[in-house]
Amino acid sequence: MSKCTLPEENVRPKRLSDFIGQEDLRCNLDVFIRAATERGRPLDHTLFYGNPGLGKTTLARIMASELGVNMVSTSGPVIERSGDLAAILTNLDRGDILFIDEIHRMPATVEEVLYPAMEDFQIDLVIGSGPGARTVKLDLEPFTLVGATTRLGLLTSPLRDRFGCIFRIEFYSPEELGRIVQRAAGIIDVEVEEEGALAIGRRARGTPRIANRLLRRVRDYALVHGSGVVTREIAESSLERLDVDQHGLDNMDRKILTLMVENFNGGPVGLKTIAAACAEEVRTIEDIYEPYLIQCGFLKRTPRGRVATAKAYQHLKLRLEDDDQLRLI
Ligand code: ADP
Repeated sequence: MSKCTLPEENVRPKRLSDFIGQEDLRCNLDVFIRAATERGRPLDHTLFYGNPGLGKTTLARIMASELGVNMVSTSGPVIERSGDLAAILTNLDRGDILFIDEIHRMPATVEEVLYPAMEDFQIDLVIGSGPGARTVKLDLEPFTLVGATTRLGLLTSPLRDRFGCIFRIEFYSPEELGRIVQRAAGIIDVEVEEEGALAIGRRARGTPRIANRLLRRVRDYALVHGSGVVTREIAESSLERLDVDQHGLDNMDRKILTLMVENFNGGPVGLKTIAAACAEEVRTIEDIYEPYLIQCGFLKRTPRGRVATAKAYQHLKLRLEDDDQLRLI
């Protein structure tokens, strides 16, 4: 089991009742956990997908603590060889949760070991090499695989089909993020007014991890420039100084939009071109920046590339030229 001492850890909800938002998901998970406990059987394999920082790891840990089992944590790119996965699987105890983050980045040869493990709690081990090699079936303790991915579309269908429950984690509303900020503030001992928490929630890109990070930065400003209490004014002025605007966009988001508008006439422009022009990795743009810009209505995906919307132009306070206006309608 991996141990972590990041500041994130102390504010991570431990029980389902502490987990804020995602009502439907929470209710469903609650039912599945209770049913599994009553039946005395491990929970079905579960997949969470959604943007980074929305609570996938948190939910996996909550499942383990609600079920009273151990969780072994690893991640797709870390498991390089099928033997690595076999070693992890054979060490699991009955009912344990195996959490694989970024499961879409697992090598294909490793993924094949997972199929019989998920379906029949068995693995095929190859002993020896060359003509003398033979395959031995090994029984595993029944376990629950919890996978997390930011990119459901990159999962192969044989793997996706082996999950009994697939949950999408949505962006959070500013109000939910305000509640998350207030909860975290109570844990890290910072006084936050309701309006202050909401101001942070509005600028947190729908993401609890960002809300908690902004809270820590705003707390520093409140200590140095105020009385230590996070009011709305303190929250807004400090986030402005941190270059987080009223939509939660940071420098990079604005750079992407400005570049599309100024250099590519608002698009359509390919993702690779955007990434190269911003000196950023394609995956970072696609996984971190783009989903939020789309969610806010600043960017559109079209078959010919990405397009900046009229709302993006307005946000950047750029005047629409006549033909741009026509194109964007
Ligand atoms: P992911 O695995 O999706 O990248 P995490 O589960 O690591 O995201 O969540 C990041 C942080 O956000 C956690 O440390 C936790 O404190 C906080 N968090 C996430 N979801 C919630 C929630 N629903 N309620 C309260 N805090 C949350």
